[in-house]
Amino acid sequence: MLHNLSIGELSRSLNSGQISSVELTRHFLARIERLNPALNALITLTATQALESAARADARRAAAGERGPLLGIPLIHKDIFCTDGVRTSCGSRMLDNFIAPYDATVVARLKAAGAVMLGKANMDEFAMGSSNETSYYGPVKNPWDTTKVPGGSSGGSAAATAARLAPFATGTDTGGSIRQPAALTGVTGVKPTYGRVSRFGMIAFASSLDQAGVFAHSAEDAAIVLQAMAGFDARDSTSIDIPVPDYPETLNAPLKGLKIGLLREFFDGLEARNAALIHDALKLYTSLGAQTVEVSLPHLPLSVPTYYVVAPAECSSNLSRFDGVRFGYRCEAPKDLLDLYKRSRGEGFGAEVKRRIMTGTYVLSAGYFDAYYLQAQKVRRLITDDFRAAFGQVDLLIGPTTPTPAFAIGAKIDDPVTMYLNDIYTIGANLAGLPGLSLPCGLIDGLPMGLQLIGPHFSEAKLLNAAHLYQQSTDWHKQAPRGFE
Ligand code: GLN
Repeated sequence: MLHNLSIGELSRSLNSGQISSVELTRHFLARIERLNPALNALITLTATQALESAARADARRAAAGERGPLLGIPLIHKDIFCTDGVRTSCGSRMLDNFIAPYDATVVARLKAAGAVMLGKANMDEFAMGSSNETSYYGPVKNPWDTTKVPGGSSGGSAAATAARLAPFATGTDTGGSIRQPAALTGVTGVKPTYGRVSRFGMIAFASSLDQAGVFAHSAEDAAIVLQAMAGFDARDSTSIDIPVPDYPETLNAPLKGLKIGLLREFFDGLEARNAALIHDALKLYTSLGAQTVEVSLPHLPLSVPTYYVVAPAECSSNLSRFDGVRFGYRCEAPKDLLDLYKRSRGEGFGAEVKRRIMTGTYVLSAGYFDAYYLQAQKVRRLITDDFRAAFGQVDLLIGPTTPTPAFAIGAKIDDPVTMYLNDIYTIGANLAGLPGLSLPCGLIDGLPMGLQLIGPHFSEAKLLNAAHLYQQSTDWHKQAPRGFE
């Protein structure tokens, strides 16, 4: 079936004229119509625009002989990316009525490559969450078991990819929001190096951590998409101006001599069945010629508390722009300016966002700044230095993406600390600005689990290469949830 083909296979069928982009787009729109109600993965459908851009892609192919790898391939954007003329809600009541006046750079680049946007994906409100339960539009269900969460905050993008509602989807990862939901839904998710993909037009949560990336069915597909997304953008002041390597080109590079680091801190207390999956993967890598080395990052256990100071601090500043005046929601009949601010923010933001704003304001306030924010920044540096030292010994680090498979909807939502602990394996890479990738590596109780690869800055090509060779010898990434095959 069309929805199980890789991007390369779809592209070849388009090139040979076997199918058109309009037909392909109709196929996915029909799947969305049939399957999305049970998942709530998409919150805005752009069917008319999709068919128009598909027709344009067909014309570019036919008339101009264009052959770009994404020309005419459908995708879904996380609703954190501004999309010109299309509602961009960020999962919040605050932006429920916000029609973006321009495209984010990620959106513009994929559009220029000829990819066809089908719609916008549900997400945790302002990307704050690990379960997609904080969305104003209701929780996303995991296609592997609809009583379970898909992970968050890019839960809609992950669930949509897993359910084959599109060949790929965009996401963002501030503290794990691509890798964790990719793991819990059995897809491949890539969080690039901080600065590799432009943040322009991506609604800001924690600007020193936010990074855009991709969900796909394989590392090979992800390489094609990342190729189109990555690169310098003068409109993002932290975008880095170094050339983008040819990611698809090096997917099959031999792994002989690759040094894989096993992070002692990741294995301490790891559930036996989870550890067994990682060890199976290591055996495979060893058979491909890699060596394993045990490494330690002594400050890594501090990453969750560090993140939950730094991220809320930045969020409290970033979200101050939502004041009921310039963007989005405004309360009814305000008495005066203060009442307008208070009620617009009080009514527009959900509970988790308010918790983060309050925590962030507290850690930045006079008298507490030194004890919390400054301290967290120092620990962030120590964690970064630990990674740097580890990458002096090894080429990449390997470990689990999450402590457990997908948990039940409702199980952790009333206990923020338990929820935050779900991010234990992902947050370190964000604090250090490193690229990370999660790929499916097995099942526990019938639910997918992720293997995480973390590399030095700008090592995306190596991560994709290592993931691709794993996927050449295994078929976990090909398994689809029942009912979505
Ligand atoms: N789960 C983390 C949080 O709630 C990460 C979110 C993200 O990466 N956007 O902050």
